[in-house]
Amino acid sequence: MAEMCKRCLLYEMAGSKEVYESVLRLIADMDPSERASKEESTRRLGVCKACDHLLDGMCKACGCYVELRAAGVERSCPYDKW
Ligand code: SF4
Repeated sequence: MAEMCKRCLLYEMAGSKEVYESVLRLIADMDPSERASKEESTRRLGVCKACDHLLDGMCKACGCYVELRAAGVERSCPYDKW
């Protein structure tokens, strides 16, 4: 069984390559008007990386992969951290 990774994003986890690629495809398929800027999504993910709710690339508060959640311009953190 793979070890869980606290404060890891999917792209950092060797065992999550397929899931990460799926997330990237979903982001690429978003309408550009629905997609947050690269700078904004990077800023959001920096907040997630420092958050106790992040586990294995997933937010324990909402159950989302944070890389996908952070990519949506209208999405927000369930704890208003971004
Ligand atoms: S979305 Fe919010 S609560 Fe969830 S991991 Fe990111 S900062 Fe933490």
